[in-house]
Amino acid sequence: MGKRKSRMSKLLAQPKLDTTFPCPFCNHRDSVDCFIDLTHNCARVACFICREKYSTKAHPLMAPVDV
Ligand SMILES: [Zn+2]
Repeated sequence: MGKRKSRMSKLLAQPKLDTTFPCPFCNHRDSVDCFIDLTHNCARVACFICREKYSTKAHPLMAPVDV
């Protein structure tokens, strides 16, 4: 009972969820934008450097990072 949680989860150290990611195609940093369209249940990512686009199905619990 006296044991304190001195080490908080590392999850708390993460910044807020970001919607920009490094592009796996051109390796440009933060060039990929992610849009999650919950009305159509799809998620789209697009790199504005190499114009690579990708879309997939999404669900409400999905985070941009999962795309
Ligand atoms: Zn790219």
